[in-house]
Amino acid sequence: MSLTGQVAVVTGSSTGIGRAIALRLAQDGADICINYVHHAEDANAVQAEIKQTGRRAIVVCADVSQVPQARQLIAEAVAQLGGIDILVNNAGIEVIQPFLEVTEENYDRVLAVNLKGAFFCTQAAAQQMVRQGRGGRIINISSVHEDLAMPGNAPYCASKGGMRMMMRTVALELAKHNITVNDVGPGAIATPINRKTLENPQLLAALKAEIPLGRIGSPEDVAGVVSFLASPEAAYVTGSTYFIDGGLMRQTGAL
Ligand code: NAP
Repeated sequence: MSLTGQVAVVTGSSTGIGRAIALRLAQDGADICINYVHHAEDANAVQAEIKQTGRRAIVVCADVSQVPQARQLIAEAVAQLGGIDILVNNAGIEVIQPFLEVTEENYDRVLAVNLKGAFFCTQAAAQQMVRQGRGGRIINISSVHEDLAMPGNAPYCASKGGMRMMMRTVALELAKHNITVNDVGPGAIATPINRKTLENPQLLAALKAEIPLGRIGSPEDVAGVVSFLASPEAAYVTGSTYFIDGGLMRQTGAL
């Protein structure tokens, strides 16, 4: 149990990748702050699963795109769980729309959740980690689209590209506090965000054909790498992106 005694905040952990990360970090020994914005019942179910493992788990409703709520999320974790050692910026959304039709509202929403939310959660968590003086781990759930263009998803790509440079810059600023900052870049992972593709046999076959390992990833595939980055074994890793994509990035010749 490499994370025993540590506290992890996982944004957007009521379902999908965030849920798997929350469960995995709890399995590794951490106490968990679960966060959601719409679906309390999902968040409560994750809490119940974690409590069965003997770890502490709290649920906090907070829209990370609203800076006061992002700060309150971190404050609640600190108040109820006694501190923060690991922040996983996972909450994210996408609105598929041709570039020529993207509305200001959709642009603002995607950037606010995916990038601004991660920025200010990181700031609040890092301020607390510096006060605590025992280092910390910031792990962003980015995407292959921090590097790989995706027509029809320009705001999302802009948000994940921004997340990459935020991660690299903040990693340098926080290194002196022994706080590491890294991105995890999933490829195609089976979660509700991809429901339309997963339920359409033709789209699914076309997607699998692009993936050298020949399958869609699972949320647990992502959680395993997050577990490593949160662990003592990753103490010397900072400023990097780990892609979890079945080889997709190599196939497309990205980077
Ligand atoms: P998902 O199944 O749609 O889950 C999204 C989670 O984020 C939910 O818990 C949701 O809570 C929460 N959330 C949404 N807006 C929020 C907000 N404003 N404040 C706080 N929480 C919010 O998505 P997913 O597929 O697991 O994706 C998780 C992350 O992985 C995202 O950052 C996504 O970009 C990234 N990613 C996913 C894939 C993939 O193929 N699935 C690939 C690359 C990257 P509610 O249910 O309460 O709204």
